[in-house]
Amino acid sequence: MTQIAFIGLGTMGLPMARNLLRGGHGVTGFDLHAAALERHREQGGAAAASAAEAARGAEVVFTMLPTGTDVHHALFAAAGAAETMAPGALLIDMSTVHPRESDAVRAGLAERTVAMIDAPVGRTSVHAHSGELLIMAGAESADLERARPLLELLGSIVDCGGPGRGARLKIVNNFMSIGLNALTAEALTLAEASGVDVALAIEVMAGTAAGRGHMQTTYPDKVLSGDLTPAFMLALAVKDLRLALDWGEEVEVPLDTGRAALAGYLQALDAGRGSLDWTALYDFWRERAGLD
Ligand code: NAD
Repeated sequence: MTQIAFIGLGTMGLPMARNLLRGGHGVTGFDLHAAALERHREQGGAAAASAAEAARGAEVVFTMLPTGTDVHHALFAAAGAAETMAPGALLIDMSTVHPRESDAVRAGLAERTVAMIDAPVGRTSVHAHSGELLIMAGAESADLERARPLLELLGSIVDCGGPGRGARLKIVNNFMSIGLNALTAEALTLAEASGVDVALAIEVMAGTAAGRGHMQTTYPDKVLSGDLTPAFMLALAVKDLRLALDWGEEVEVPLDTGRAALAGYLQALDAGRGSLDWTALYDFWRERAGLD
């Protein structure tokens, strides 16, 4: 049995703390809201009056808080957990925070010889309940092995390759899924405004890169294999994107995300990539970012 402090017993934290309790661990919770703390008591946990009190004697402290500012506050403000965490204790921050904020927390705790794992999660509160979160862990190997039995009670673990990398991959993942949501919303609106049956549009796109995603379809054999000979030429992709944007104006769908995409494609075209495969956009973007 590990003595655990769990700070932040909201939508995600409460069921996660319950899964740790069910795993046979002692879980002392703290939350700014008394009602959340009460619910933790009802599920069999102990309740503390401050983060510092929760962390006293804890081998592992979890934080599941809304923002990086909240994490910083829960640890380093007066009566924060860092006051009482013993040297050798471990913080596992599972909140979604800015990588810079995560790095700052790691540095602050290192001064107290407390190790940290950044372990933000994918999926939703449904998976927090069922113990099926996708945990993106950034940690030294020894710390991750120490935390593994606890994290396995919460979901499946992806070792992101070192401290800070979990916070970074989480941001990348969310950038992709949130951006795709914007493009998906525009595409289906365009279908409907064009008089196309939306269910049919979804069915058609389920069989193309539109619905299946480039990482699973076009990228593996082309840009990721270093082959930029055109299966579909970038200049033609630009032509088709323009067709859609133009048609969008006709049926009064603004397509702002599509316009932003065109701006990127045009830069690649200006840089002489028009006759390459359309996945050369990735190659172009890497060059712009100063990657070799
Ligand atoms: P939430 O608002 O439901 O819960 C956060 C809890 O933290 C609240 O109960 C609040 O009172 C408490 N809190 C805030 N500051 C505190 C402090 N200083 N000390 C103690 N308690 C404090 O949020 P949530 O949905 O549980 O999300 C938590 C984190 O998980 C966020 O970073 C979120 O982006 C991330 N996340 C959420 C989901 C989701 O589906 N809800 C999915 C993946 C990741």
